[in-house]
Amino acid sequence: MKFNIAVLDGDGIGPEICAGAIEVLDAVGRKYGHDFIFKHYPIGGCAIDECGDPLPERTIEGCMASDSVLLGAVGGYKWDDMPVDKRPEKGLLRIRKALGLYSNIRPAKLWKALAKASPLKYELVKDGVEIIIVRELTGGIYFGERGRGTGNGGEYAWDTEKYSVAEIERITRIACELATKRSGKLVSVDKANVLESSRLWRRTVHEYCARNYPQITVEDVLVDNMAMQIVKNPAQFDVVVTSNIFGDILSDEAAQVTGSIGMLASSSLGDGKRGLYEPIHGSAPDIAGQDRANPVATVLAAAMMLRDSFDLPREYAAIETAVQRTLDDGWRTADIMEEGKREVGCKKMAALIAERV
Ligand code: NAD
Repeated sequence: MKFNIAVLDGDGIGPEICAGAIEVLDAVGRKYGHDFIFKHYPIGGCAIDECGDPLPERTIEGCMASDSVLLGAVGGYKWDDMPVDKRPEKGLLRIRKALGLYSNIRPAKLWKALAKASPLKYELVKDGVEIIIVRELTGGIYFGERGRGTGNGGEYAWDTEKYSVAEIERITRIACELATKRSGKLVSVDKANVLESSRLWRRTVHEYCARNYPQITVEDVLVDNMAMQIVKNPAQFDVVVTSNIFGDILSDEAAQVTGSIGMLASSSLGDGKRGLYEPIHGSAPDIAGQDRANPVATVLAAAMMLRDSFDLPREYAAIETAVQRTLDDGWRTADIMEEGKREVGCKKMAALIAERV
C-alpha cells in the first residue's frame, strides 16, 4: 500500500529524530511491501526564519493533502524573545486546530529493560508499565467562559468546566477504538462525586460504550484516586479516557513514572484517519546537532501512525518489538545510559532499530 506522510521536522533535534523515524519506516516499508512517501514542510522557528510565520499556508496545505503527519519538535533560544503569537509553539496549536484534532493520546510506557530508570520502587514496575491516557483536547475548563470581577469579598476570578454529550462521545469513541485493539478495558476518570460536568461525563461514557462498544468493560475512577493509583500500582491500567484538565495533569504524572522523556510518543486525532504524531519532548536545543538525541519517542510516534491512521497493527508491533530487542541487546542513547550498556548516538540507535525490523 502507498501512504503520503507530511514530515514537519521543526527545530533543534527535530530533523535528527525525524530522520531516525523515517529510516525505521523505510525498513517497515521494505519488509511489508508498503510505499511511504515523505514530503517535508516547515513549522516553528525554521518557518519563522523562512517566511515570518510559524505555520505557513503551504505547510497546512501539505498536511491536508497527506494521509498523516509526523512532527519533530519546535522552539529554541533564537526565538525565545519573540511576541507570544509569533512564537514557534504557536505553530503547534494552529496545526492541531487546522487539522480538526480534538484528542491527545499519550502512552506512558516504561520498558522492562529500563525499569530502573523509574523513580518508583523497582518491585512496582519490574514487569514494565503502559498507561495510555486519552485526553480531550479542545473543550472543558481551558476553553470555557472565564472572567474577573470585584465584589464584597474583594477581587475574584472564575473559569467554567463545560462539556456537551457530543464532545464526550467523540473522545470516548477514540478511546474505545484504542481499547478494542488492546485489552478491551477502559478506565474513565472524572470527579463525579462533586462536579455536574463529571456526572454527565460518566453517564455519557457508559451509555455510549454500551450502545457502540458493548465488548468493552468500563471502570470509573475518581481523579484524586487516579493520581494516587498511578504511583501506587501503575501496572493495573491500560487505556484511560479523561477531560482536558485531568488529562493534562495525569499524563505528566504518568510520564514521570517512566523516567525518560526521550522514549515517549503521542498522537492527536480527530474525526478522520489523519493524525499528528510526535514525541512528547521539546526540541532539546542543548543537544541539537550533536547526534546525542534519543530517536525512540519519534520512532514510536511513527509506529502509532501505522496502527491508528493506517490500520497496520502488525507493522506497529514490528517496530515495538524492534525497539524492545534493541534495548534488550544493551544499546542506549546518552539520556537512558546505565552502567554495563553500550552508548550510541541518534543515527546509530535508529539504524539498530531499523535493522531489527
Ligand atoms: P525539552 O523536552 O526540549 O528538553 C528537556 C531536557 O530533556 C533537555 O535536557 C533535553 O536535552 C532533554 N531531551 C529532550 N528530548 C530528548 C531526546 N529525544 N533525547 C535526549 N534528551 C532529550 O524541553 P525544554 O528544554 O523545556 O524546551 C526546549 C524547547 O522546546 C523550548 O523552546 C520549548 O518551548 C520547546 N518545546 C517544544 C515542544 C514541542 O515541540 N512539542 C514541547 C515542549 C517544549
